[in-house]
Amino acid sequence: MNHFELNDGELWCEGVPLARIAAEIGTPVYVYSSATLERHYQVLHDAIASRPDLGEPLIAFAVKANSNVSVLRTLGRMGAGADTVSEGEIRRALAAGIPADRIVFSGVGKSARELAFALDVGVAEINVESEPEIALLSQIARQKGVRAVMAIRVNPDVGAGGHAKIATGKAENKFGVSIGEAERLYAQASNNAGLKPVGVACHIGSQITDLAPMEAAFGLMRRLVERLRGEGLSVERLDLGGGLGVPYFHQPAPPSPEDYAAMLSRSVGGLGVQLAFEPGRMIAANAGVLLAQVLHVNARPDGRQFLVLDAAMNDLIRPAMYDAYHDIRPVRPRDGSPMNYDVVGPVCETGDTFTRDRALAPLAAGDLVAFMTAGAYGAVMASEYNTRPLVPEVLVRGGDYAVIRPRPTYEDILAREPMAPWL
Ligand SMILES: *Cc1c(COP(=O)(O)O)cnc(C)c1O
Repeated sequence: MNHFELNDGELWCEGVPLARIAAEIGTPVYVYSSATLERHYQVLHDAIASRPDLGEPLIAFAVKANSNVSVLRTLGRMGAGADTVSEGEIRRALAAGIPADRIVFSGVGKSARELAFALDVGVAEINVESEPEIALLSQIARQKGVRAVMAIRVNPDVGAGGHAKIATGKAENKFGVSIGEAERLYAQASNNAGLKPVGVACHIGSQITDLAPMEAAFGLMRRLVERLRGEGLSVERLDLGGGLGVPYFHQPAPPSPEDYAAMLSRSVGGLGVQLAFEPGRMIAANAGVLLAQVLHVNARPDGRQFLVLDAAMNDLIRPAMYDAYHDIRPVRPRDGSPMNYDVVGPVCETGDTFTRDRALAPLAAGDLVAFMTAGAYGAVMASEYNTRPLVPEVLVRGGDYAVIRPRPTYEDILAREPMAPWL
């Protein structure tokens, strides 16, 4: 569910017409709904926490999906933690007021500086992904005279998730260690004065709409926890990652939070560990749209119609990078039968094509369109390619909105580049 609805013939976000934001802030612009963010966190939390065999979870929002500090604070105030993959993301979570003991530090390549920073701020858990990383963490922790609270990220060798670029749980992917390795490393870490292993973690992919591979992976994780405990090792937390899909359209419907929680009961219920989750897309995707304006409708003699927008691949790269589908809705739908459009941006690359031959209600220059389901992996992946100013972000709450990342001016952009002194 989301809070972008037609109201009096035009698209609103909660109590604000999108056309008003376009007129006041300009386009392209990302617009997020506070109510949708809050609702998605709440339904996931409640579905899990209402089951006594699962207990109170740590739901650590995957900051990489949408790292705007106002978005993080909106979720943090609901009780969410943060799953982070860099020092910068840890700093964002802290700046948003998320306490360190709800911050998980994940990622395949953490530098010594980043590990030291995570130890200094006292994050809840560092998810280590390889033997060399464990050695580095132990060395840094010993120098500081602390024991690093850590979990081992396991690669359960289960395939899931739509696009190859976002599948992470197969043995050939770069993430995590095998289950056998995890058992050995966990025992070793337990005897290391610089380390305090508290659990195991997995994250098998993204945009997953079928619960079966998750259930298979989580069953393997359960047996791993049981084996570790059988060896007399303590396991307090089981981090099951993110990956729940969202309906982009033309795709299998994702499982409901209730079905997800029922699957959790079957696979890891009653294990007596704190469950942790790292949802990104499921929380943020449907909470945001990218609002753009039609610059030209360019009709070719062969009948092809190009809809040239003021948004481009540098603002929303998912279609170019993952062949992703985004529903495109006119903000003020006109009457008339649908037309087929190739929807493109102004960047000088053929890849700057959002979609081809898409049937849309008729559009004209000056009309506004909204790319739906753009709240995750949208603004965070934006760049200034072609020196197009970084796309701004707006957060709506009820009848109010705030600019939570302004569009830089050209002066801002140029001021970031000091001239080499010899020029
Ligand atoms: C990307 C990622 C997530 C979030 O994935 P979603 O599909 O957005 O839920 C969670 N955990 C880790 C380790 C990740 O890399």
